[in-house]
Amino acid sequence: MLVVNAGELVTVSGGTQKPKVGKQMGELGIIRDGGLAVKDGRIVAVGKSCDITRIYKGEEVVSANGKTVLPGFVDPHTHLVFAGSREDEFQMRLSGVPYMDILSAGGGILRTVKETRKANVEKLVDHGTETLDAMLEYGTTTVEAKSGYGLTTKDELKMLEAVKRLNQLHSVDIVPTFLGAHAVPPEFSNNVQGYVDLVTEEMIPEVCRKGLAEFCDVFCEKGVFNLEQTRRILSVGKASGLKPKVHADEMSRVGGAELAAGIGAVSADHLLFSSAMGIKAMADKGVVATLLPAAAFSLMGGRYADARQMIDCEVPVALGTDFNPSCWVENQQVIIGLACHCMKMTPAEAITAVTINAAHAINRANEVGSLETGKKADVVILDVPNHKFLGYRFGVNLVDKVVKNGRIVIDRESSRNDFRLMDEQKM
Ligand SMILES: [Zn+2]
Repeated sequence: MLVVNAGELVTVSGGTQKPKVGKQMGELGIIRDGGLAVKDGRIVAVGKSCDITRIYKGEEVVSANGKTVLPGFVDPHTHLVFAGSREDEFQMRLSGVPYMDILSAGGGILRTVKETRKANVEKLVDHGTETLDAMLEYGTTTVEAKSGYGLTTKDELKMLEAVKRLNQLHSVDIVPTFLGAHAVPPEFSNNVQGYVDLVTEEMIPEVCRKGLAEFCDVFCEKGVFNLEQTRRILSVGKASGLKPKVHADEMSRVGGAELAAGIGAVSADHLLFSSAMGIKAMADKGVVATLLPAAAFSLMGGRYADARQMIDCEVPVALGTDFNPSCWVENQQVIIGLACHCMKMTPAEAITAVTINAAHAINRANEVGSLETGKKADVVILDVPNHKFLGYRFGVNLVDKVVKNGRIVIDRESSRNDFRLMDEQKM
């Protein structure tokens, strides 16, 4: 397959070995009138359209017609699998009830835990499939997915089994993360240490024995898991082969950024309240800052992570949806819009953050995140003349086509032709 005639072919090249930091985040490696060639699902050449068509004869030639072509988006932080919904809680939060109050009254995560425990694997897979369909329609071709609504060994394994099944059934690639320490379940509310023991002595060994996760994550927060408990869980995970990640400094400054740097985490996520020292420590250790502006938006606290400071300090910044029942968004284009408007990232920086840097946050930079030879042919064609429209034009789906592993999986142009034809028939 050839993809040619891109107004801009945004390669995001040059960040495969190391994530892009500082000024590099604004350098997208754009080829005007660009194209690429694909063989067996992989990119074999990238360059000017005329050079690509001269050298390669594609069985299928897709013209981008002057539109913007980018790597498929990578979403490095999602709670993909769960049962139920929490729209009534949204109403409570709008009337001013803080999330931590809802949580201590058995709502929030705990409500979703109750519903997820009741659901079987099939139900979780059905729900997850709908979510992945939506994500793919908005241009996301690789996602991370966490457990964390089971909170018993059996139910955490069930969630990760559902993630495994989804990865087999759906064309979106999924990277699994064990998040047994997402909340303290009600049966351990007076014995947090007992739950930490269950996570480290029973859950992690079982998850590893079954090979169901690559990462281990902890919700490190006041009233959830403290620094010491977080460190213990992540160290046990690391010793068992699970790479560390951490939900850090989301609602208060607990020192999560410093902990992430100290333990050698691949990423620290949220970071609304991180200290300058913590950010500096992350830069020194190359920990990816996965920022989740939709989560901050849905918390309605008016506070966002200090992306500008992080970029200035040369912390590699990635962006994710944090898709979950209290932040129900599948669309990385919306995240780019929020990153620009609320955190003053430029469209170019935000594009780097949802492609190559997001791939680094989930250890997939060798496979995806840029349009370079050898990588998977995961490509999105957006119906805009250049990349500066991302974040600027928001609230509609800009996707024209999505190519996954060298195959067109979404083609909105042809479906548009259907209803435009209907219009003519009306006349
Ligand atoms: Zn999260």
